[in-house]
Amino acid sequence: MPAVKNTHRTTVAQLDVPPRLLLGPGPSNAHPRVLQALGMRQIGHLDPKFIELMSETQELLRYAWQTSNQLTIPVSGTGSAAMEACFANLIEPGDVVLIGINGYFGLRMVDMAERYGAEVKTITKKWGEVFELNELTKAVSTHKPRLVGLVHAETSSGACMPMEGIGDLCQQNDCLLVLDTVTSLGGLPVFLDEWGVDAAYSGSQKCLSCPPGIAPLTFGPRAVEKLNNRQKKVANWYLDLTMVGKYWGSERTYHHTAPINMNYGLREALRLVAEEGLEQRWQRHHDNAEYFWNGLKEIGLECHVEAAHRLPSLTTVRVPEGVDAKAVQVELLQKYNIEIAGGLGELAGKVWRVGLMGFNSRRENVTLLLNALRKAI
Ligand SMILES: *Cc1c(COP(=O)(O)O)cnc(C)c1O
Repeated sequence: MPAVKNTHRTTVAQLDVPPRLLLGPGPSNAHPRVLQALGMRQIGHLDPKFIELMSETQELLRYAWQTSNQLTIPVSGTGSAAMEACFANLIEPGDVVLIGINGYFGLRMVDMAERYGAEVKTITKKWGEVFELNELTKAVSTHKPRLVGLVHAETSSGACMPMEGIGDLCQQNDCLLVLDTVTSLGGLPVFLDEWGVDAAYSGSQKCLSCPPGIAPLTFGPRAVEKLNNRQKKVANWYLDLTMVGKYWGSERTYHHTAPINMNYGLREALRLVAEEGLEQRWQRHHDNAEYFWNGLKEIGLECHVEAAHRLPSLTTVRVPEGVDAKAVQVELLQKYNIEIAGGLGELAGKVWRVGLMGFNSRRENVTLLLNALRKAI
């Protein structure tokens, strides 16, 4: 036996983390009941009790999304894994895919769609603006896509995409509608079936108040049909829904080991959504966001997005002339234990991004942040 080398550090201090208030674009703080659920003892991923918990989570997810889609599951991974699952499963090489880019996550959709062999077409808007139905109609008739990808709640810009009419447009043109609901699920109205969305995904660490690591995904009948009629296997083994779907479907056959405790956490997070009720939860997010926007006005700060398209879960605040955006963020973190974020891409250095998501959407958090912001500026 060779001698064990001791060249690496083998003693580190006991874990200690500062009590941050996470008011950025995610993760948001998990609800205490979710943290408690995460720490519960494990059972196996094929245990009858776990199988019962899986079904309950699926039911709660259908409620949160307002869908009756059978294929509604948590993906093992973060929001980007569920996003990738959509594109990996629904794109066949050579498919024309139309992506709406009005922020960072539209760009990520393009990157993913290209990796699965799509011929990607794009329609773009300034970050903070949204697409009009007639603009999308024109783009669909020009490019004749098999799939349209849109972001409902653009976390990079703070804009909320109005969904009326888009589902009909896609159905009339025989293309699938894929919607990113990472920063909307559990925080603002989402009606997947009503809107005619064929596939959607979300994340656990935004408005659902669960730590990152598990991500909701749902496929409607038209998406499932596309999946079942593929010419070739899905080019991603881990996210292949023809296999993952069997574990979450009636067969419950092993594909990969489900992250048991993350599933406990998500189930508790969704239980909290149902306990509060969707309408009440949406109202709470709306009211606290409005309270924040009014407070911003009082301290002389402006929102980047016009009121009609502003997300309640994520506000982009314009950085005033002469203020060092990064320095304010550092001061909030160091002095107040509050995390907010700066802008990305087009908005880098121009805005702060403030999330009031799930458990964190509370009046006292808004007051705390406004006071800290006022002093820091
Ligand atoms: C956070 C986010 C994602 C990516 O989720 P991760 O959990 O970071 O992988 C995708 N889309 C939007 C709109 C997001 O806000």
